[in-house]
Amino acid sequence: MSTRRRRRATGRAQYRCVCGHELKKYWAFCSNCGRGQQWKDLDHLTGAECYRCGWVVSDTFSFCPWCDADIHEEGYSSERPLKAPRGFRMDARCDWGCGGGVQYPMPYCPWCGRPQSWNEEDLFEGECPHCHRGVDDLMNVCPWCGLDATGRDLIPRALTRVRRLLLVSRIRDWGYRVLLRPGVSGVDPRWPKAVEIEQRYVIGSKRRDEIPWTMLVGLLTHELGHSFLYHHWDWTRSRRFRRAFGEVDKAYRGMDNTWVYFQRRRVAIAPRDFVSAYAAKHPQEDFAEVFRFYVTRRGRLRDLFAEFGQKRKGVILYEKFLVLHDFVRALRGWSELR
Ligand SMILES: [Zn+2]
Ligand SMILES: [Zn+2]
Ligand SMILES: [Zn+2]
Ligand SMILES: [Zn+2]
Ligand SMILES: [Zn+2]
Repeated sequence: MSTRRRRRATGRAQYRCVCGHELKKYWAFCSNCGRGQQWKDLDHLTGAECYRCGWVVSDTFSFCPWCDADIHEEGYSSERPLKAPRGFRMDARCDWGCGGGVQYPMPYCPWCGRPQSWNEEDLFEGECPHCHRGVDDLMNVCPWCGLDATGRDLIPRALTRVRRLLLVSRIRDWGYRVLLRPGVSGVDPRWPKAVEIEQRYVIGSKRRDEIPWTMLVGLLTHELGHSFLYHHWDWTRSRRFRRAFGEVDKAYRGMDNTWVYFQRRRVAIAPRDFVSAYAAKHPQEDFAEVFRFYVTRRGRLRDLFAEFGQKRKGVILYEKFLVLHDFVRALRGWSELR
C-alpha cells in the first residue's frame, strides 16, 4: 500500500459547513454530514454566478467549471481560452489541450467544458470507491460525489453479518473502520483501526473479480484479526501469548491479496499446529486466522475443539484459541468494571 498518504492540511479553518465541520473551498459536499454546498460569489470576486448551480464563475467562461452548464454569453465570454481571469488561479492547463487554465478542484474546463482529472495522491489518504477522487479515511461522505466515502454502502450484507458475529462472539467494538480501497487488503500497523479491503473484489469492472458476500465475511474477519492485534499490541508481549503464537514482529505488514484463502470454514487437517495453511505463513497471519475462525464460529470453542480432535490437531492450537478466548473475556470484564 505504497500509495497511502497521511498528510494533514495545515493552516486555519476558513470554511465550515452549517454542521460545524471544516470544509475545503469548492467541496461539493460536507464530508461529515453530507450536506450539499454552494460556493457563491460571496467575496464579490467576479460578480457572476452560474444560472444552474449558483456557484461562482467568471463572465469570461464559456462553461461552468462546477456543473458544466453552457454559460457562454456573446460579448462577455472570452473569444479564446484564458489562463486565469479575475477571481481564479491557473493550477494546470486543461487536460484536453484547449489552451485554457483550470483551477483545482474544477471538474470541468471553463473554456471547453471537458472533464478534468486531478492527481490528489498527496492531498488525501485514499480514493472514493464511487467517483475515484481523493478522500480521507475518517470521511463519511465523499466531498466530491456525496456518496459513502468508505464504500461500506457497497457491502452492507457482509458488514451486518460481521458485526453480528463479533457481537455473538462477545468481542467489543474497538473502533475499527472498514474502508474499500484500491490496492490490496490489509491493515497498516501505524493505523490499526483502518481495515482496508480491496475494492476490486466488490466493484470489479467486469464483475469477474467480485466475490460472494459470504467469502467477503471471511476476508473481513481475517483483516479484523490483524486490526484487533495491532490495537491490543501490548498483549503480544505477554508470556502466554508468545508461547502460543511466537514472536509477532510488528514490522510485518500482511498483504492479503487473495480472498481464496479465507473462504474455508472448516479446519484444515494439515499443518497440524495451525488452523489453516495460510496461518503458517507468519505469526501475525496465524493470529488473524485464529481470530477469523473464532469469530466465524461464534466463539464456540466446544464445537471447534471437537473438530480439532477429529482432525488430530496439535495441543498448541487449542491453546491459541484459549489465549484469545481468555483475552476477550478479560476485555469484557474490564469494561464491565468501569
Ligand atoms: Zn456538514
Ligand atoms: Zn454551474
Ligand atoms: Zn479545455
Ligand atoms: Zn466520491
Ligand atoms: Zn492477513
